[in-house]
Amino acid sequence: MSETVKYVLDESRLPEVWYNLAADLPEPAPPVLHPGTGQPVGPDDLAPLFPMAIIGQEVSTERHIAIPEEVRDVYRQWRPTPLFRARRLEQALETPARIYYKYEGVSPTGSHKPNTAVAQAYYNKQEGVSRLTTETGAGQWGSSLAFAGRVFGIEVEVYMVRVSYEQKPYRRALMETFGARCVPSPSEETNAGRTILAEHPDSTGSLGIAISEAVEMAATREDTKYSLGSVLNHVLMHQTVIGEETQEQLELADDYPDVVIGCTGGGSNFSGLSFPFIGQALRDGKKLRVIAVEPAACPSLTKGLYAYDFGDTGHLTPLVRMHTLGSAFVPPPFHSGGLRYHGMAPMVSHVKELGLIEARAYTQTEVFAAGVEFARVEGIVPAPEANHAVKAAIDEAVRCREEGVSQAILFNLCGHGHFDMQAYTDYFAGKLEDHEYSEDEVAMALAGLPSVAV
Ligand SMILES: *Cc1c(COP(=O)(O)O)cnc(C)c1O
Repeated sequence: MSETVKYVLDESRLPEVWYNLAADLPEPAPPVLHPGTGQPVGPDDLAPLFPMAIIGQEVSTERHIAIPEEVRDVYRQWRPTPLFRARRLEQALETPARIYYKYEGVSPTGSHKPNTAVAQAYYNKQEGVSRLTTETGAGQWGSSLAFAGRVFGIEVEVYMVRVSYEQKPYRRALMETFGARCVPSPSEETNAGRTILAEHPDSTGSLGIAISEAVEMAATREDTKYSLGSVLNHVLMHQTVIGEETQEQLELADDYPDVVIGCTGGGSNFSGLSFPFIGQALRDGKKLRVIAVEPAACPSLTKGLYAYDFGDTGHLTPLVRMHTLGSAFVPPPFHSGGLRYHGMAPMVSHVKELGLIEARAYTQTEVFAAGVEFARVEGIVPAPEANHAVKAAIDEAVRCREEGVSQAILFNLCGHGHFDMQAYTDYFAGKLEDHEYSEDEVAMALAGLPSVAV
């Protein structure tokens, strides 16, 4: 049995700025377009949905943006988070690789999501907003915004993808514990929800549908704004505290990663860990492999088209250029609820197009096998989403063994799985199915892409 190796930063080392990758890219990401005019959107187009401070961050090209003291003060409750060296996993795999994982499961809701929820609730409060609407898949985001809303005194209303609402009653209870209202989506409360239900009364829902409902509510109420838990530039930027801390922790370890890995739903935890490293590589020419890992049942980066598409199913959002399976795509109900999004963050899509990152997809049974293997040696049960990153880290470590090379592999253990034990139970009972993504369904959804000249 080998010793525990953990790199802890003193709270005086809590980052003071977020990192913005836009400052270091060789070319800017394509603009966000207004679906009516086909022209880039301006701040006025977004003002009904977001506070001005957030709109400013969304389009900023400043390398660093100061983290408000009020936000840092809340971060301090669980940040800096620990970085572990996975010594027992290395031993079990008999790999010469050095495996590190950054553990975001120590936050109040058990994932990386409060990093942006706290910032977004703060900026909304600053600008006098009293109510926030949002969507949630597995309930990670909804519970994080519920927590952050509570901290800053903002009401929170969450549209929760119906399949998760039914599979994960404890996440809903967590949201309600923090005082949020939780509605299964599609719902009868919005035009977007009613339209879907009229056509598909048994709809299990999707993030795309839930986003439409939350956006519609925010756009039609004066006191209400909308908050998104992934995908947008400001969200990815708020998550960079993960990578910034890790860079300092690896200095303590006197090491540097050859491979950086994160799972991707909308792309925020992946970006949070990897963007500070990608920026450093762009600035000093360091060699680095960065791997985004997604579910085979919702493979936007590996099988999607890089095209302008809507961010939601009801077509209420602007058009963003991203890897997409089509906004009409409803992924099969699989357990990694946080990865059920038809698109990918435009910034992640852009760096994929620039060749700065790789992408791969795994089926759910293979990622659960990896998660169980990890839990049995490291003692932490990963969230089902995080299991995708665990699987890739294990595969890379096995590659190192086969090639006889000693590389440093870093991955984001973006959350724990304590609210997801039903998924583990199903896995042990052999009930998890490897949902194949249906070519027909995606071809149909892609056929409905908005036409935009690029
Ligand atoms: C929400 C969530 C994800 C997916 O979202 P990203 O924006 O891609 O990070 C992944 N893991 C966990 C634990 C989540 O809660």
